[in-house]
Amino acid sequence: MPRITKNLHEGLTLIHSSYYPRQQSVLHPRRHQALLGIGGNVGDTIRRFERLYLFWVKSPYITVVETSPILRNPPFGYLDQDDFYNALVTIQTNLTPIQLLDYILRVEKRFGRKRSFANAPRTLDIDMIFYDQRKVDKPRLTVPHPHWRERDSVVIPLQQMKGIPWSKRHL
Ligand code: AMP
Repeated sequence: MPRITKNLHEGLTLIHSSYYPRQQSVLHPRRHQALLGIGGNVGDTIRRFERLYLFWVKSPYITVVETSPILRNPPFGYLDQDDFYNALVTIQTNLTPIQLLDYILRVEKRFGRKRSFANAPRTLDIDMIFYDQRKVDKPRLTVPHPHWRERDSVVIPLQQMKGIPWSKRHL
């Protein structure tokens, strides 16, 4: 059962649930570390995040290192839709950035993502925010994720994380 921890300004709320936030000791470190952003606003998004955590814990491709609390925040762009829930997940992986992108697109599909129009309601959106200290500028992939600094959905959960201070590494 989620526990609301903090009401921030302008309709922003930080929520603690069973697996968000959480830190994991990593027994078998993998070569690369990445920060993934997860979001959704259709159905029971917190429950979907919990299922996603349990799915990732069993994944042969990635190891979860840390999750942030969940930020409930109002929609932007297309405003006539429910609030969004967003969280961050630090992972380790041996996949390359493009392989990791293909993997997260497969996971979005598995969790029922339906693409309709830009900024539309979505069941699960996964973004690659950082991948080590790498800069990637390809037609299919831009890392660090553009505009991450301006997004409450990234900056606020990031401030709550205990691990590597990603934002300082990317200044
Ligand atoms: P969207 O539906 O807005 O989440 O956009 C998804 C598409 O954005 C994907 O098919 C990717 O090819 C592209 N993309 C570019 N950079 C990134 C990134 N850093 N993380 C996730 N998707 C990205």
